[in-house]
Amino acid sequence: MRSASFIVTIDGPAASGKTSVSRLLALKRGWAWISTGAFYRGLAFVASRENVSVNDEDALANLCLSSIWRVEMGDDRTKVFLRSEDVTDEIYAEDIGLAASLVSRYPKVRANLLGAQRACADSLDALVAEGRDCGTIVFPDANVKFYLTAGTLDRAARRARQQGGNVEEMRQAQVQRDYQDSSRQTAPMQIPTQAHIIDTTALTLDQVVEQVDAVIGKELAQQSLSHL
Ligand code: C5P
Repeated sequence: MRSASFIVTIDGPAASGKTSVSRLLALKRGWAWISTGAFYRGLAFVASRENVSVNDEDALANLCLSSIWRVEMGDDRTKVFLRSEDVTDEIYAEDIGLAASLVSRYPKVRANLLGAQRACADSLDALVAEGRDCGTIVFPDANVKFYLTAGTLDRAARRARQQGGNVEEMRQAQVQRDYQDSSRQTAPMQIPTQAHIIDTTALTLDQVVEQVDAVIGKELAQQSLSHL
């Protein structure tokens, strides 16, 4: 199921800081990083371009396996390409986040994207994976698992600062997305057993990364993997 020697998962609701924390952590440690939301965002974007309905599970499941699009790991962003076009800028808008949350509820879609998500760990020493089900479904035997949370207003304000837009509209969109993600039947967002829970509301990005990194440092030492 996994091949990297050391896997860290970071799950949590929309705008809880998963992406910024995991990216910085991976940079600091020199490890690879994958934002698994890019798979669902990419699928939602490609579906709209190719006129596939977000209500058609079978067509979406087929699109998951199509070679017209692909997800690529990167240091700064997880990228998505449709044919030869880099559509990364487009997929990170909040409306694509909501559409991603609709396509991600289908079991056949999740099953068809799982292989590509797990393959991100192939031939690597270490991987940081973030999303909603990384610690529960994608990498259930990860070495260290985290779950980040933050107050809804704080999360909306963060995203509005990053992307522009109205804080209250952002808050409503995120509340709806979190509800959809945590109430779906297949792989709902939940706190993985044994996860370290960090409320990031009153913490700076650097403080969160420091806390996460300290836990990882201990775990590496315990497993005699400090060379990674
Ligand atoms: O994390 P991000 O905001 O990029 O995720 C977009 C959407 O993709 C989420 O709202 C969720 O519906 C879906 N997702 C998921 N499982 C993951 C990562 C993301 O269902 N592991």
